[in-house]
Amino acid sequence: MELLVKNGIVYDPLNGVDGEKMDIAAKDGKVVEQVNERKARRIDASGMLVMPGGVDIHTHIAGSEVNTGRLLRPEDHFKDFERKTSVTRSGVGRSIPSTFTTGYRYARMGYTTIMNPSMPPLEAKHTHEELNDTPMVDKATYPLLGDWWFVLEYLAQGDIRECARHVAWIMDTTKGYAIKIVNPGGLEAWGFGHNVKGLDDQVPHFCTTPREIIRGLCKVNRLLNLPHTIHVHTNNLGRPGNYLTALETMRCVEDLAMDNKPAIHLTHCQFSAFKGDDWRTLVSGAEEIADYVNSHSHVTMDMGQVIFTDTTTMTADGPFQYGLYGLTGNKWVNHDVETETSAGIVPFRYRRKSYVHAVQWSIGLELALLIKDPWKILMTTDNPNGGPFTAYPKIIAWLTSKRAREASLKRINPRARERSLLPSIDRELSFYEVATVTRAGQAKALGLKQKGHLGVGADADIAVYSVNPVTTDPSRKYKAVRKAFKRAAYTIKGGQLVTKDGEILKHVDGRTMWLDVRVSEPTRITGEMKKRFKEYWTVEYDNYPVNEDCVKVPDPITVKASI
Ligand SMILES: [Zn+2]
Repeated sequence: MELLVKNGIVYDPLNGVDGEKMDIAAKDGKVVEQVNERKARRIDASGMLVMPGGVDIHTHIAGSEVNTGRLLRPEDHFKDFERKTSVTRSGVGRSIPSTFTTGYRYARMGYTTIMNPSMPPLEAKHTHEELNDTPMVDKATYPLLGDWWFVLEYLAQGDIRECARHVAWIMDTTKGYAIKIVNPGGLEAWGFGHNVKGLDDQVPHFCTTPREIIRGLCKVNRLLNLPHTIHVHTNNLGRPGNYLTALETMRCVEDLAMDNKPAIHLTHCQFSAFKGDDWRTLVSGAEEIADYVNSHSHVTMDMGQVIFTDTTTMTADGPFQYGLYGLTGNKWVNHDVETETSAGIVPFRYRRKSYVHAVQWSIGLELALLIKDPWKILMTTDNPNGGPFTAYPKIIAWLTSKRAREASLKRINPRARERSLLPSIDRELSFYEVATVTRAGQAKALGLKQKGHLGVGADADIAVYSVNPVTTDPSRKYKAVRKAFKRAAYTIKGGQLVTKDGEILKHVDGRTMWLDVRVSEPTRITGEMKKRFKEYWTVEYDNYPVNEDCVKVPDPITVKASI
């Protein structure tokens, strides 16, 4: 199995390749130095843009939350469907497509690795079943641990090492990849109809606070040497004035950062960058957040960009979704996942003419443009919360072209336009920076060594786009750039050509990655623990773990912990 992508103009930031004309060779699924030109399948990429396959650090695509969203929204299905072909299955759904369709749509855009960020451990089996059915991409999923009773208890006792052993166990038990924290402490409080408002509020019935949860799990993350940092959805998300909470959250782990390495990932930061006392006085807090990120090295974040469209919001942040239900009066699902977490779903339409929505749209782009280092701010929509992932090419156009931003600014709410920082920002991302925010930076933040680059030994995941970066000025020709990123000319997954001009040529399953964390002394599964499963959970301990045979194409990543 040999393949050669000839004469493309390559952007590979992890290897410092900035628009060089070169060939990329692949053999047995990996990038190699060279192949036998006569035997290899050749792809002519002359005058085309070549990048590593796209990586998405945060996209809700599988599990009970997503599936409940599908059940809640038949209207999302019938306005968007895909016919089956000789290669693909049929599917439906615009903001919450069915599993197979999700895989096809990512592959069409040149994406090859995606991370599902929100998995209650209790729903892990369901999540993996859906990941098994999401073809074309490699994937992984993050268990929700910020309100997990065992974690709260260990942290209240100050027992970080035992907490770490427990987290190592849960990564294997759920086949998870990273520690996800959502509104720490707030979800436990939501079980009683309450929330927490600040980092030092007490979590009801547990002698701990959001600050202690974030710091504790950050220390756990370090003890276990996990490849990604803690992945944090802040307290007070979606509330005016919450940029102060976001700043406080980043500050609270400042002293835990070592060797200038990131210690925390703030996800969909747009939703946590609101300044103002209420919705009427809402303005952007992007400048304050960007100032902080520009002067510190322990933070990475992703955008959570808003798209003006109809979508479906879904998060483990139950109290936030209740607030959104109150604001919109739309249909709403609320779910309390036993002793683990909560969840909520509300359909939502972002409108250009809404002051608040237009401010949100502006904040996402302001963050991406004001944060100077593109390795620190990655491109997402928090799919589907800010909008469906299929809108990524639009965001690329806004990031690379001031004209594209101006064209959209003209159409938004006039008061939001007046207050937007965008007219004062001239920065336009280069293709090298686009490759950073859509793949290289994402792979680096995730600690995925074989992803996001095209060096020898990397996974041969390659995207070729029909735009000539030498002759095309993205600032002027933003529509051509948008079009090119919408449908990759070629997507290569594991060294195999899987799409051409948006058509799926070949079905591949893609692997599921998880962490096999080796600790010297694993946590003890005591009779007391099993008894608690019996008393508090609907699933008994013996039925709880996701065994390796539940995963279609297993790809465990071994991690050696320091304990
Ligand atoms: Zn999310």
